Amino acid sequence: MDTVFDKAKSMQFPRNVLVGADVIDDAGDLARELDLQDPAVIVTGPNTRGVAGDRVADILEDAGYTVHTVLAEGATRKQIEATLNEAEETQGRFVYGVGGGRVIDAAKLAAKRIGGPLVSVPTSAAHDGITSPRASVRSKKGAASREGVTPMAIVADTSIIIQAPYRLLAAGCADAISNLSAVRDWRLAHRLRGEPMSSFSKALAETSAELVIDHASQIRPGIEESAWLVVKALIVSGVSMSVAGSSRPASGAEHMFSHALDKIAPGQALHGEQVGLGSIMMMHLHNGPWERIKTALDDIGAPTTAQDAGLERADVIEALTTAHEIRDRYTILGSDGLTRDAAEHLASVTGVCP
Ligand SMILES: [Zn+2]
Repeated sequence: MDTVFDKAKSMQFPRNVLVGADVIDDAGDLARELDLQDPAVIVTGPNTRGVAGDRVADILEDAGYTVHTVLAEGATRKQIEATLNEAEETQGRFVYGVGGGRVIDAAKLAAKRIGGPLVSVPTSAAHDGITSPRASVRSKKGAASREGVTPMAIVADTSIIIQAPYRLLAAGCADAISNLSAVRDWRLAHRLRGEPMSSFSKALAETSAELVIDHASQIRPGIEESAWLVVKALIVSGVSMSVAGSSRPASGAEHMFSHALDKIAPGQALHGEQVGLGSIMMMHLHNGPWERIKTALDDIGAPTTAQDAGLERADVIEALTTAHEIRDRYTILGSDGLTRDAAEHLASVTGVCP
């Protein structure tokens, strides 16, 4: 029988986390403190370059670094490959990823390619990928997840993040809240399939969701404290995944539903918006407090209906009936998934497709 002493486990966490107004100004000192070696590569996006990418380049140059800037134009396999090749040609020794989720994902892979550390400088807080090593790459069949580098440090400047469209921040809230249904799925898999479960990781994932729900009425556009709160919740969510060594605590059936939608109706709604809707419905299947999730999303201004999210009813039903095929992860959807009738009923009764 296994005892705790037989277990060996490797966990990776960010070493430095800077959150707050104007922390971006400390990006140069941070690089020195982490003993990062010249030259630097900044991976940034066509829009986020003007928002923060060029500023970080100046700050690193002031700190004495030679800086190469690489633009991540998109998240298709071809575009990512071009970004990685360009990063490699610079012979950079470390990466600063400055941008939204897609840019940070490209930066995780670029750091892996050059074999150097990554500092994540998010310009928005739309999902909990800020701290994780996973990167999503788009293909014709939907999105595939690839292993990149866990950020060594995070610089989350709330005065920049609050300038991003509010829709992104609301989606980030929904991604954190969705941990509540993900954790239920984990417990189910633990009970029915003997899947290992970490109570510490589970507690962190729940804390992340509760943090957002408790402050739902204070999360508003243009209020910098909102950005602070959401970043904190998303970082805690990321740490829960680092502790678990997988995305389990933050990704259950509601994420499979979202990934199914990515294939059926790509680009219609944001990741967080989709998992929010999924979480309402999966919590209903768990016979849990789904209305609490719905009320919180509503307070925050995240979509609670397919229509709000710009999704068609038929696509939601299709995603519900195929979500169980997305990956080999045991959830409330079981091995066979939902029948069409059950999916229609679930979407109606929760008001997602009234
Ligand atoms: Zn997510």
